[in-house]
Amino acid sequence: MSNSLKPDREISGSPPHNFKFIADAMLGRLARWLRFLGFDVLYHRDISDLGLIRIAREQDRYILTRDTRLVKRKGIKYFLLIHSDDPFQQLAEVLDTLNLKRYELLSRCVKCNGLLTRVADKQEIGGSVPEYVFLHFPVFMKCSDCGRIYWKGTHPEKFISNLRDILNVEKDC
Ligand SMILES: [Zn+2]
Repeated sequence: MSNSLKPDREISGSPPHNFKFIADAMLGRLARWLRFLGFDVLYHRDISDLGLIRIAREQDRYILTRDTRLVKRKGIKYFLLIHSDDPFQQLAEVLDTLNLKRYELLSRCVKCNGLLTRVADKQEIGGSVPEYVFLHFPVFMKCSDCGRIYWKGTHPEKFISNLRDILNVEKDC
């Protein structure tokens, strides 16, 4: 097993951070999974339609929504209307529709959207992850905003295998 992360696995196409998103209140899981792939996605559970539209416009973000009435409101620059109610299908819709082929695992906090940085010395984080994890994983990443620690294996295997199906890749994520 290699000790190095592959921080930037290109499938093809444009860099991931060209697209920024803001997800509506119904799309929390989609927001998290897009972050897992390295995309910048704002998500506030209690945001109003007007607030969502304002932030999207100010920050040039695509609005991700399932709300057909919302997208008819004034002031929206970019939006993507999501059809499926299954989060994995929603993820596939976003990636397909915008032709996003490049992603960066373990680069962004799924919880708060902060950027992850590599922990230089893992002794620093002793005690903040389970002992087994500390002993068996060589590389840890830390969220620069909320401090949450990530490592390969943070995400359940089922998730990774579904992700492989969606992204059509066979290599290990
Ligand atoms: Zn965070």
